Amino acid sequence: MNATTGPIYRWRVGEVEITRVLEFEAALFEPAVIHPEASPEIIERHRAWLEPTSMDPVSGLMIFAFHSMVIKTPRATILVDTCSGNDKERPHKLRYHRKNWPYLANLAAAGCAPEEIDFVLCTHLHADHVGWNTRLLNGRWVPTFPNARYLFAREEWDYWRVAEWRAAYTTDPYYEDSLLPIMESGQAELVATDYALDDRVWIEPWLGHTPGHICVVVGCPQPSVVLSGDIMHTPLQCAEPALNSCFCVDAEMARATRRRFLETFADTPVMIIPAHFRTPSAGWIRSYDGSFRFHFDCLR
Ligand SMILES: [Zn+2]
Repeated sequence: MNATTGPIYRWRVGEVEITRVLEFEAALFEPAVIHPEASPEIIERHRAWLEPTSMDPVSGLMIFAFHSMVIKTPRATILVDTCSGNDKERPHKLRYHRKNWPYLANLAAAGCAPEEIDFVLCTHLHADHVGWNTRLLNGRWVPTFPNARYLFAREEWDYWRVAEWRAAYTTDPYYEDSLLPIMESGQAELVATDYALDDRVWIEPWLGHTPGHICVVVGCPQPSVVLSGDIMHTPLQCAEPALNSCFCVDAEMARATRRRFLETFADTPVMIIPAHFRTPSAGWIRSYDGSFRFHFDCLR
């Protein structure tokens, strides 16, 4: 795995500050594995602009980042998506298995202590978005953020609490080690998919990748920044919106949602921060040649 520390990436929207906290970034997936419908022809068509920043020219693997975003408003500190976590048993997902990432050190470097987090939001409940919900302390999984309310979209929770749906995704015990302890601690709160945390931060349903997948919107009152979760895993999906990831639960809805998302935000000033785009992870959607491209922020 590659770098796990790096410069602080921070964006400001009026009085709101958004800071990226990296867990890790690595060339990780073959394009045809993460996007099963990506033919060799499709990859070749886009190779020139994907390399070297989004696709490693040596291995041919797509580069993925795993990060949280800390949103600081005048009233609250909100942590969005909690990556894969440390010490988790993930024998079927080895990229997350028994890791020891300096995530909490990176959070500290971003100027934030776990006690300061008021809200934890997960765009959806896949294993790589809930890991730091908990940490291992004296052999028990305890909430990493002791003062936070963890907000889960009710539709998302209701889906993944069914063992059969979880088993179709993975038999790794992420529900047991990263979700149940939050429920049992009394810190979880099930909310609607259009819940407003305050007048500057709210969530919206953008369903399909998972049944209760939400985006987190920062704005006042118009959206300025959208944390788009896993609507797109790689910039290739901007150019080829019909390509799903191998993790999309509802293939047709995921495609329709992705296209609607791209059409909604293309050529607007709204900054988009997907959950896995490589550093610096933020940018804008632009129309290009009958489809779209992702223009990464090059602020630093
Ligand atoms: Zn993900």
